[in-house]
Amino acid sequence: MSLENLKKAIRDIPDFPKKGIIFKDITPLIGAGKLFREAIDLMAKPYLARPPAKVVCIDARGFIFGAALALKLGAGVIPVRKAGKLPHKTHRADFDLEYGSATVEIHEDGVLPGDRVLIVDDLLATGGTLRAAIDLVRRSGGEIIGVCVAIELDFLKGREKIEGTSIHSLIHY
Ligand code: AMP
Repeated sequence: MSLENLKKAIRDIPDFPKKGIIFKDITPLIGAGKLFREAIDLMAKPYLARPPAKVVCIDARGFIFGAALALKLGAGVIPVRKAGKLPHKTHRADFDLEYGSATVEIHEDGVLPGDRVLIVDDLLATGGTLRAAIDLVRRSGGEIIGVCVAIELDFLKGREKIEGTSIHSLIHY
C-alpha cells in the first residue's frame, strides 16, 4: 500500500460547495476499509512513541480521522464544533474559511491545563480552521504536540497561518 493508492481514492468535485473550489472528497478513501486503516496507521505513526492525552478533532470530517486516531493512540476525543452545537460552557473562536467564515467552539473542560494535545482534521486549506482550533486549545491550557491532517493543499500556504506548530500531512496537492 502506498500514498499513491490513498491519493487515487480522493475524488475531485469541481465547483463544490462554491464555484472555483475543487472539493477533495474523502468518502471513497474512508469507504474502503484497507485504505482507511492505512491512512490512520500512517497518520498515527509519528505519535506512537509518545502519544497525546487528547485528540482534538474538528467538525465534521475531522471527527472521522480524529476518533480513529485517538483509539489507536489510546487518547481521549475532544470535539471542536460549529457554534451552538456543544451543550456545556465553551470557548469560542471566529475565523475565515476558503469558502466563507465560521465560528467554532470547544468545551471549557475538554482539554485540561498541561494535557498533551494532537489536533486532527481531514484537510488543511487556508489554515483558518486549524488556527482557530490551536487558539481554543491554548486558551484551555493544553500543550499542542502537533497538527495532523490527511490532506494538505500546499498552494494555499495554510502552514504559514499555523507557523510554530509541527504539522504531519499525508497527501499533498
Ligand atoms: P481552512 O480553514 O481553509 O484550512 O479549511 C479547512 C477546512 O475546510 C477543513 O475542515 C476541510 O474539511 C474544509 N475544506 C476547505 N477546503 C476544502 C477543499 N478544497 N476540499 C475539501 N474540504 C475543504
